Amino acid sequence: MSPPDDAAARPEGSLLPASVHVVGAGVAGLAAALALVQAGRRVVLHEASPGAGGRARALPDGTDNGTHALLGANRAALRFLAAIGAREGWVEPEAAGLPVLDLADHTSRRVALSPLGWGSAARRPDGLSLGGLFTLLRLALPGAERSVADAFARHPALLRGLVEPLTVAALNTQAHEASARLLGAVIRRLALPGAARLLVAARGLGPDLVAPALATLACHGVGLRSGDRLRNLVRQGGRVAALDFGDHAVTLRPEDAVVLALPPWEALRLLPEVPAPIAHSPILNLHFAQESEGPVRFLGLLGGLSQWVLVRPAGVSVTVSAADASVGLSDEAAAIRIWPEVREVAQRFGLPGEWPLAPPPARAVRERRATPRHTTEPRPAPPRRPLANLALAGDWTVPDLPATLEAAVVSGEAAATALLRGGIPR
Ligand SMILES: Cc1cc2nc3c(=O)[nH]c(=O)nc-3n(C[C@H](O)[C@H](O)[C@H](O)COP(=O)(O)OP(=O)(O)OC[C@H]3O[C@@H](n4cnc5c(N)ncnc54)[C@H](O)[C@@H]3O)c2cc1C
Repeated sequence: MSPPDDAAARPEGSLLPASVHVVGAGVAGLAAALALVQAGRRVVLHEASPGAGGRARALPDGTDNGTHALLGANRAALRFLAAIGAREGWVEPEAAGLPVLDLADHTSRRVALSPLGWGSAARRPDGLSLGGLFTLLRLALPGAERSVADAFARHPALLRGLVEPLTVAALNTQAHEASARLLGAVIRRLALPGAARLLVAARGLGPDLVAPALATLACHGVGLRSGDRLRNLVRQGGRVAALDFGDHAVTLRPEDAVVLALPPWEALRLLPEVPAPIAHSPILNLHFAQESEGPVRFLGLLGGLSQWVLVRPAGVSVTVSAADASVGLSDEAAAIRIWPEVREVAQRFGLPGEWPLAPPPARAVRERRATPRHTTEPRPAPPRRPLANLALAGDWTVPDLPATLEAAVVSGEAAATALLRGGIPR
């Protein structure tokens, strides 16, 4: 239940400072809210669902909706984590290179994600040749658009051993339709020292992201108004005049403003004229109730259904990105297919504990619209500030980044900056 609408109830001429209504408490909305309170503005944070986090949230039982990894290159996201006091919760489980098992021939290796790590033969990806390396580096330069698979047609082993898994992980899109230009932008960012470090939340998205963000905002006097689903934007003269939440409405004063930090389909419903992606790509996560004694681990698989296996004390989580073919599997069918792969990679890399033949109890989380599809089609370019007192945020609003936590933070901060530059008063 939302608290009473103080903006609507406030008498004319009230001395309350201008308010920025941030709608959507995913990472973009949380980042926008933080940037605004840090600039001394009053923020009201509205969220449709019972909790914050959006597509990076903890489920009621504490499980993550899906494994989230960050790279050292994700500077905005890491800065945001530091600002909310959560940076130390994100650990680098595989500093010596990602352990990868190829299920086709049962060989295993460690792979560095960045070309800077390939000086050592022990950390080179399978299929790396001089020609393949050249193609990879050329991808990092601006060039004509084509699919990732087309760009690497002459280097099928490198495509399979490195480029395809990287594409599916970073763009959540299969290589045959994924944008080589956008993958190039990712690779460009991996070239700096430390940029390819892979980090995961040691305990989970609840304690290591959402709770500290809400706690930090609470210190600035911002509470989460959960259950506030924005039904309609009432517009007048190129501005938002009121926010209609169904059971109540917020009338905006001339000095008030709005950040719309929503997924693309909701932004489109409210602002149909804004260009936004309409095709999305699913991610399937399977969480096994398999406790582990050892440190956090992150293992890769080639040639199977599973792509990444995150092992934490509370359980084992498996990610299948660009999961069009598997998102419809039942929990049981997914567990039967995936557990033998988990067991093999765990045993190959000597993870401690029992890895029984039969799958432990498992729960699938299906995010059918996990991210936009990052294809070779031109990307919609939404304006940051489509109305005088409204700025857009959301992972889909940053043209040169795939829809990720990094893009969400960048977008939230950019929306805050756009409003602050527009002169919203304190
Ligand atoms: C399973 C999965 C795995 C992923 N893995 C990674 C990863 O490893 N690394 C990475 O960087 N990124 C990853 N991502 C992507 C990342 O989660 C998203 O890019 C990011 O969380 C998007 O944040 P956002 O705030 O832009 O949007 P959302 O998280 O979608 O936030 C929008 C918020 O608005 C709320 N809302 C919707 N409609 C309304 C309304 N009408 N009124 C009020 N509120 C509304 C929603 O409930 C939600 O809380 C993954 C995503 C998924 C689903």
